[in-house]
Amino acid sequence: MSPSRRAPAFPLSPVKTSSVYRGRLAPSPTGHLHLGHARTFWIAAERARAAGGTLVLRNEDLDATRFRLDFVDAMLEDLRWLGLTWSEGPDIGGPHAPYDQSRRRPHYRAALEKLHAAGLIFPCTRSRRDVLDAIGAPHEGANAPDDEPVYPVAFRPPDDEPLPPLGEVIAVNWRFRVPEGQTLTFADGQFGEQSAVAGRDFGDFLVWRKDDVPSYQLACVVDDAEMEISEVVRGADLIKSTFRQLLLYAALGKTPPQFYHCPLMTDAHGERLAKRHDALSLRTLRDRGVTPQEIIASFTTGKPVIPA
Ligand code: GLU
Repeated sequence: MSPSRRAPAFPLSPVKTSSVYRGRLAPSPTGHLHLGHARTFWIAAERARAAGGTLVLRNEDLDATRFRLDFVDAMLEDLRWLGLTWSEGPDIGGPHAPYDQSRRRPHYRAALEKLHAAGLIFPCTRSRRDVLDAIGAPHEGANAPDDEPVYPVAFRPPDDEPLPPLGEVIAVNWRFRVPEGQTLTFADGQFGEQSAVAGRDFGDFLVWRKDDVPSYQLACVVDDAEMEISEVVRGADLIKSTFRQLLLYAALGKTPPQFYHCPLMTDAHGERLAKRHDALSLRTLRDRGVTPQEIIASFTTGKPVIPA
């Protein structure tokens, strides 16, 4: 009798996701990608490649007031032009589809309901102006906070006040109640040990906006967890957000991924690159004859790409 190939009597233990590298590129279609994005995405792709892992592309198009459809195509095209490839994404599908955040609302809503049921969020009717006034911060100009201002504890409803229902359509901001005074830490793959104190370094943050749009923090955590991302590679401007997100992972009972934050690129005047830096957009460089190889070489040598 030939040996038969029988299925095992019990399911084999699943592959441990922690041993499988899954990285992601998470661009927002709010403008043309510039050199800074390109470098972060290239580092993310290199780390996935070096680990023999998978790279996911997620289109962060949640904020309909800021994104433009033509930027979605442009960003995918720019990334392909640079030579980056991904094996799951809005253009090719994959096991965790959809990969456009605008099509994932039910996932975020389910997470919001969980936070609501656990009493970890509260409705907030204060404006950004109220918050800035309360902490005595300037509203604009050089001294205006570049991150979300710390939400004053005095603005919170009392702990024991019952929460109103979320309602079908959300018309009020909902914030996460941070455990003030708690020190949070994580080991960053690039910058090493990081720590922040909740309530001092950052305050109660938005999880859902009054225009019924999930916040970046909530959508990012839900997606990174559901897409089984093992390492998040992104710009160092999001380090503070990582602490907020660690609280959301804990609140939602999910295991956080590893984090690797990339140093930010600055322009000739030492200012952080932004999407308004059109001269340094991949499109402009490409139109001027700069090749993807030259751009990537500039990342490894640190020598600037000088447009012709
Ligand atoms: N969508 C964000 C951006 O384009 C990145 C968010 C993240 O990587 O967590 O800046």
